[in-house]
Amino acid sequence: DAAEMSLKDIDQLAKSSFPLCMRHMLDKLRENHHLKHGGRMQFGLFLKGAGLKLEDALAFWRAEFSQKIGSERFDKEYAYSIRHNYGKEGKRIDYTPYSCQKIISATPSVGDHHGCPYRHFGEENLRAALNKMGVGGHTLEEIMDKVKNRHYQLACTLTFETTHGVSCDSGINHPNQYFTESQKVLR
Ligand code: SF4
Repeated sequence: DAAEMSLKDIDQLAKSSFPLCMRHMLDKLRENHHLKHGGRMQFGLFLKGAGLKLEDALAFWRAEFSQKIGSERFDKEYAYSIRHNYGKEGKRIDYTPYSCQKIISATPSVGDHHGCPYRHFGEENLRAALNKMGVGGHTLEEIMDKVKNRHYQLACTLTFETTHGVSCDSGINHPNQYFTESQKVLR
């Protein structure tokens, strides 16, 4: 079982251990105080998988969304779907976080922030995002090369390896695996 993720640690954990897809969504959520459905699903289920409890998840999303639409509207329009992700509403299915394969095959439109940055960002944006993670020089070119050859998960694996200073022989195939492996290295 995943360790519990506490609300106050999210930003710190994002910096150290979230894959680029999830960092990007946290940035956008903090910036816009909103994420569209695809983002709420991809990011919300990731956080759940990383150990964020339902009560904390509600507090987390409410804190951002209420800055834009007020907490009453949040409670009315969005709280249900968060409880739903945790299997507390509707058919009470305990939804599992999305794999890389699923995320890579998403088709985000303008204004969406879900998907895989290695697959869905333009070259300039991807380079800038990787620079922000401290990736540059020869390694950055290697990563961009993998992207050009449509090896998105290998590009992500390389990013993991260079930012953590270890090799990841199994390769990255799930954002929650990225998170867990990172925590193993850093703890
Ligand atoms: Fe996220 Fe997977 Fe893409 Fe990495 S390869 S950014 S973990 S979807």
